[in-house]
Amino acid sequence: MNRNLILIVDDSKSIREKLRSILVDNGFEVIIREEGEGAVQAALEYFPDLILMDYNMPGMDGLAASRMLKKYSQTRAIPIALFTDTEDIKNKVKSFQIGVEDYILKGIDHKELVARISGLLNWKTDRDKIIREKDKLSGLLDNFRDAVAIVNHEGQIMFFNRSAADRFGFVPEVIKAGNLKDVLPECEESREILLAVEERRELEELELEISRCDRQRIYTISIRRVELDYTEDIGAAVIFTDITGEKEAEKLKAEFHSMIAHEMRTPISVILGYANLILEGNAGDVSDMQQEFLQGISGNGEVLRKLVDDFLEVSRLENKFVNLDVASFDMVELIAKTVKGLRLLAENKDLKLEFNPAGESIMMNGDSDKLEHALINIIENAIKYTEEGGVTVECFGTGEGVEVRVSDTGIGMSEEEMETIFRSFERLEKAQKKKIKGTGLGLAIVKEIINAHQGQIRVESRESKGSTFIIDLPSLDEGENSPVEAAETCQASSE
Ligand code: ADP
Repeated sequence: MNRNLILIVDDSKSIREKLRSILVDNGFEVIIREEGEGAVQAALEYFPDLILMDYNMPGMDGLAASRMLKKYSQTRAIPIALFTDTEDIKNKVKSFQIGVEDYILKGIDHKELVARISGLLNWKTDRDKIIREKDKLSGLLDNFRDAVAIVNHEGQIMFFNRSAADRFGFVPEVIKAGNLKDVLPECEESREILLAVEERRELEELELEISRCDRQRIYTISIRRVELDYTEDIGAAVIFTDITGEKEAEKLKAEFHSMIAHEMRTPISVILGYANLILEGNAGDVSDMQQEFLQGISGNGEVLRKLVDDFLEVSRLENKFVNLDVASFDMVELIAKTVKGLRLLAENKDLKLEFNPAGESIMMNGDSDKLEHALINIIENAIKYTEEGGVTVECFGTGEGVEVRVSDTGIGMSEEEMETIFRSFERLEKAQKKKIKGTGLGLAIVKEIINAHQGQIRVESRESKGSTFIIDLPSLDEGENSPVEAAETCQASSE
């Protein structure tokens, strides 16, 4: 077992000897010095486990030596007990103020002296253990590529790793680095993060662009609950994962796909144009068999053209090129026009297509062309995925805007399926089994258009019973742009 090393400092020989014999008898190792300067040097040389030092000494006294030892980072952690003749409150206060751990009267009973020293040594062992654990933890966190900040429920940053210091300019020597809200930009996502911290909630990967220290990066931010110290103060670990690289790669990939799709448009149109010219007899008589084959070329060419057009549309919308042309329009009139355009499609399948508006007109602001596109996609789907019965479109004014409901009596979908249908290229198995043609892009386009209008879309459905798509749209301010573009300007200023 390691014996504890105690540095005894006293100018009186008899006291030094007395202390030495008590401590050695109780299993401690000792070194002895006669004055303050020698004590500081010995502390720096031997790093004792505890210093027992006389308060009054000629030259550098115990208080001055303690002050020096508590200033040096190498000796700061060594507990000091000042040893004195008198119980002087002023001296006592001064000693504790500079960080001395104990103040002991020389007349103390030997057993009590040993107990006090053992108590201090136990406390030091526990504290060193905590410091080692903390160093281990911060060493571990420092190796993380992610920036991590531990905050209390007011967002005050209590602890952070090296990556957070580099990215956000936190100064490691400053224990409290500031508040989380100083790091986050002013925007809806930031408010959600701060609210989650305040309400002690966890949060999954929220995407945010942050500009700090001349760097503009995209992060996903997650919040995990942690307990701080041994108190009831529950804090959170805020984890910033830099996804700028992934985002750039994604963008390049999307741009590449969109370029390919764009390049495919012209040859498809040329093929379709020639096929139709031949079909119309512009290249001489067409036999029945030729007509059948040409119709095959033309029909499939149209499917291909729709796929390419939808793909281009969805990538334009996903890449945030939504430029809304906001103007006042009558939603009832817009739906009536859309329904009229699709009536033939419904009649061809012997389906009823009804429109039941709540009033004669509902005026609102939005991009009527884009909303018409969204309505066509939804009503077309309702017709496409219904074999019997029909499709009903309703709309109501909501005060802030309008609610549109498109209900059908079609094949419906399960709860799990409802969660996937708004993703690009997502088609349900039963749609494919029934050989109903589609690209899986229509609803992705609808979602982007509704998002750009700051609206919401959801679906209620039961398998084999039918589905209802519900759109809630606020009336935008005239000239208002899409929230997507507004969000792009939502960044914290560089400090
Ligand atoms: P698609 O071109 O395949 O119709 P969409 O993006 O418009 O692509 O729709 C995605 C999928 O959602 C469809 O393939 C279909 O499986 C399902 N779906 C969409 N609308 C309905 C509906 N009204 N009833 C049942 N399923 C639907």
